[in-house]
Amino acid sequence: MNIIILGAGVVGVTSAWYLAKAGHSVTVIDRQPAAALETSFANAGEVSPGYSSPWAAPGIPVKALKWLFMQHSPLIIQPTLDPAALRWISQMLRNCTAQRYAINKSRMVRIAEYSRDCLMALREETGIQYDQRTQGTLEVFRTQKQFDGIGKDVAVLKAGGVAYEILDREGCASVEPGLSSSKDKIVGGLRLPGDETGDCFMFTTELAKLAEQAGVKFLYDTGITRPITEGNRLKAIVTTKGTMEADVFVGALGSYTPKFVEHLGIDLPVYPIKGYSITVPIIDAARAPVSTVMDETHKIAMTRLGDRIRVGGMAEIAGFSKSLPAKRQATLTHSIEDLFGGAGDQSQAKFWTGLRPMTPDGTPVIGATRYQNLYLNTGHGTLGWTMACGSARVLSDIVSGNKPEIETADLAISRYAA
Ligand SMILES: Cc1cc2nc3c(=O)[nH]c(=O)nc-3n(C[C@H](O)[C@H](O)[C@H](O)COP(=O)(O)OP(=O)(O)OC[C@H]3O[C@@H](n4cnc5c(N)ncnc54)[C@H](O)[C@@H]3O)c2cc1C
Repeated sequence: MNIIILGAGVVGVTSAWYLAKAGHSVTVIDRQPAAALETSFANAGEVSPGYSSPWAAPGIPVKALKWLFMQHSPLIIQPTLDPAALRWISQMLRNCTAQRYAINKSRMVRIAEYSRDCLMALREETGIQYDQRTQGTLEVFRTQKQFDGIGKDVAVLKAGGVAYEILDREGCASVEPGLSSSKDKIVGGLRLPGDETGDCFMFTTELAKLAEQAGVKFLYDTGITRPITEGNRLKAIVTTKGTMEADVFVGALGSYTPKFVEHLGIDLPVYPIKGYSITVPIIDAARAPVSTVMDETHKIAMTRLGDRIRVGGMAEIAGFSKSLPAKRQATLTHSIEDLFGGAGDQSQAKFWTGLRPMTPDGTPVIGATRYQNLYLNTGHGTLGWTMACGSARVLSDIVSGNKPEIETADLAISRYAA
């Protein structure tokens, strides 16, 4: 089949890879001059099935209120009357029950674990390099209360068969020696040895090259404006470079997918949740993180990517704004300097923002729509890098008429109709 993929982020490019491998003729269209230049560009670098949890969890509404008044807060809500934001917040709050949390979490873990296995297989098959490491991730707790409260997370990890280690502060410093001089600031940590790290932009760029060699066409600098329908099928899409037809279309426009499907009367509850990162060159490797260290207090992840450190986090509700306030950079700088002081050259920090395509239930939207030849692969929120390969693999199976290796019926957009 001739397939057009809308969007060349990590989700679009992995989709192209698996669809091309399944024997289809694939074209990827993106408004940017190359792959992975929007949200997939400078994320925190964690491939973390172990931390696959929905934001919407019991207790979050109270925690969120506290965060709003905290210095270096992980959550910022800009005062807004944007109906999309208000609706998304209310849908998210409705998912904060114990029952909804359990359902949403099980869906996320299913796709994230499968995705990690797909990534490992892809690495084995292609030899792709992306500053990857397979040394787990470590969540550090600054207060005894946080540390004492990990019971619920541990129970979930146990139930899911996910390997974990509970470490005291000495244990944390032994797996992450860069913490030796700051270990008095932490009381302990939770390590997930099965998690991985890597540069999502490098991965996507390299995979796009491999996909091109496998016959995938990439049309960059091409804005997608709207679909043209014929009955309950998409006939074509209108782009800034003309109208393009295909047998099948895959929507992978990240946070902008709702704008495209709106033309079709499809209500996709994906909202852009803004996050920030800085990337600094390492000047003292002994002080730098070895893998990812997640500071639970500020919800900031610090990841070693080759000779750089990526520091990423924060969640801001601010529509599609991509402004870069100095205050947010200060929070990221504070986090890394507080725990890994002197490891990186802050004077050369590259400050970045990206819009996470976030569903209110935390689970991505993968699969068919009510238009016969339109499929979606989007809404991966905080975990698009973690879930990309698995999402793309199941999408390819669904489009090709093969049975996916994991259950997918509850990942499609139809789940919101209930
Ligand atoms: C600060 C931060 C930290 C993060 N950390 C992690 C992490 O550690 N681990 C993890 O798993 N995930 C992380 N994420 C999430 C992850 O980065 C995203 O889920 C993922 O990049 C989404 O990929 P995507 O392909 O869906 O979207 P995108 O990468 O945004 O791709 C969408 C593409 O569609 C194109 N497009 C959009 N509209 C149009 C149009 N009209 N016409 C043409 N092209 C268009 C864009 O140019 C873009 O290339 C983080 C995100 C942020 C912001």
